[in-house]
Amino acid sequence: MRTPLIAGNWKMNGSLALVEAFAEAFAEARLPADVEVALMLPFPYLGAGGAAFRGGPLALGAQTLSDQPSGAFTGEVSGAMLADLGARYVLVGHSERRTLFGEDDAAVRARVEAALEHGLAPVLCLGETLEEREAERTEAVVLGQLAAVFDALPPEQRQRLAIAYEPVWAIGTGRTASPEQAQAVHAAIRARLADYDAGLAEGMRLLYGGSMKADNAAELLAQSDIDGGLVGGASLKVDDFLAICQSAG
Ligand code: PEP
Repeated sequence: MRTPLIAGNWKMNGSLALVEAFAEAFAEARLPADVEVALMLPFPYLGAGGAAFRGGPLALGAQTLSDQPSGAFTGEVSGAMLADLGARYVLVGHSERRTLFGEDDAAVRARVEAALEHGLAPVLCLGETLEEREAERTEAVVLGQLAAVFDALPPEQRQRLAIAYEPVWAIGTGRTASPEQAQAVHAAIRARLADYDAGLAEGMRLLYGGSMKADNAAELLAQSDIDGGLVGGASLKVDDFLAICQSAG
């Protein structure tokens, strides 16, 4: 059985006060026993999150990392630094990184490798644009992004990732993929993983992301190949995010 993972992505939002509010609310909340919850915080809040989440149900995550281990890379943050602060997860290949910051498949692959080197679990984000969906290229695009990373990884490293399928047209738009649309892509991803290894496919957590909210999460999470969610906007409100986590149990 795969343990569901609900990961909140604050993007460039939030505050120290919000970090504290989440830590307090989740320490008191009754969460389903078999659900894992992580918050991908902006870099400046990782130290506070590491301290505030300790001993509680929230795991710490980051939103990106450098592909370099150290050195003259002004403004960058390495995997070792994230690990120092207690991060367990890091997003890699989020569509905003791919489109706004020019991270292509090679850059995504290098960041996955850097994360693994430092003991972090990469959450690899995949997804098609609206044009690609309308041109019936969804599977080709998503499976191409998958292969660009997985082909390059040694087999024993592959199982350390989680994957988030995030249709670009559903991120931050309020337009969610239907449970059937999401399930179809998740099933295709799992089938492709089975080409590498049946056990890898069976164990891999596949999260759905794209306008997941308290009122649509249960239906999405009920799909057989959806093992969790990557939640943007709704992860900034304690009650909404708690409700999503509760619907994953
Ligand atoms: C995201 O940031 O990855 C995301 C899915 O955002 P939203 O839930 O706001 O669509």
